[in-house]
Amino acid sequence: MKSTVRAFALVMAIVAAAQVSASGRGVHAVRYVMGTWCDLVIFDPDPAPDVIESAFQEIARLDDVLSSWNPESEVSRLNASAGRGPQPVSVDLAKVAEESAALCTTTGGAFDPSVGPLLQAWGFYTESPGMPEPATQTAAASHVGCDQVSVQRDPQSIALADGAALDFGGIGKGYAVDRALAILRARGVTRAKVDFGSSSLGFLGSVDGGWPVVVADPRDRDEPLLSFRIAEGAVSTSSQRERSFEQDGRRFGHIFDPRAARPVESRLLSVTVVAPRGSTADAMSTALFVMGATEGKRLIARTPGVSAVFVEQGPSGLAITTAGKLARLSRLSRAH
Ligand code: ADP
Ligand code: MG
Repeated sequence: MKSTVRAFALVMAIVAAAQVSASGRGVHAVRYVMGTWCDLVIFDPDPAPDVIESAFQEIARLDDVLSSWNPESEVSRLNASAGRGPQPVSVDLAKVAEESAALCTTTGGAFDPSVGPLLQAWGFYTESPGMPEPATQTAAASHVGCDQVSVQRDPQSIALADGAALDFGGIGKGYAVDRALAILRARGVTRAKVDFGSSSLGFLGSVDGGWPVVVADPRDRDEPLLSFRIAEGAVSTSSQRERSFEQDGRRFGHIFDPRAARPVESRLLSVTVVAPRGSTADAMSTALFVMGATEGKRLIARTPGVSAVFVEQGPSGLAITTAGKLARLSRLSRAH
């Protein structure tokens, strides 16, 4: 559990919010949704009693749309009809697929929702992933690419090439953050935070000096590594250690380089992205993890409003570099 980091981040957020709402009581709730713990904090003094519940319900609803783990989800049913032409889909599935398709292009295929067959072949939809036989790897690789998916509007439909399968694990939590915050905003909440164990989080409203964000040490998620402030928007962190296995002295994780059709193996330990929307932050953190710091910084330079922190394994300890603007960035630990 990332308890120390989460408790620290929460205390900092409450301190920041207290600066603007000194007398309020607010609400804090935690729920297991989308395969992880989600913290929801409303800093407004007296929110309506069921507001938190409606935000969690929205997240659970989106899990039924976007989860590749659930064979009954909308995306799983769509995957099952790959090769059978355009299939009608919900507004949410169409939106996420459309944004993913756009990102597939702008990231040169580093973010690619058609990685489903790779995750399947490497056993990442089970509790015991492992390296597949070369023939299985080649077969899975032949179904990956931005061109495997076509999204149509009016009416909304998606067509998948035969054998293709979508996986929204790299964007779904960010999209859920956006939707949960939209529900809160529509219900009159002015200041809130939705946090999926710091892997994806988003803020509604602003506080003096900005919302504090803590980046954990990727080698020990209980250790806070650095902090910065953001005005409003979302943050997402990607790392291989979240889900990985070791084989022949090498570690293989759940983030794939779609261009090589293999799990990313690099010195990069984590990438944290700040963006105006959760879906962008989530997808970009996955994309930048694939691209690496050098290529990733070039993408940040041509993407307004997005910034990033790259944590790499250096020759003597962690090497931390940033791209884009980050306010009040400070190192919290001297660990190496
Ligand atoms: P987390 O799930 O820990 O928040 P990420 O946001 O980086 O981490 O998403 C990783 C997930 O994204 C994987 O588990 C998989 O479902 C999916 N994925 C893996 N590689 C890619 C890729 N290159 N492009 C898009 N999605 C990917
Ligand atoms: Mg992501």
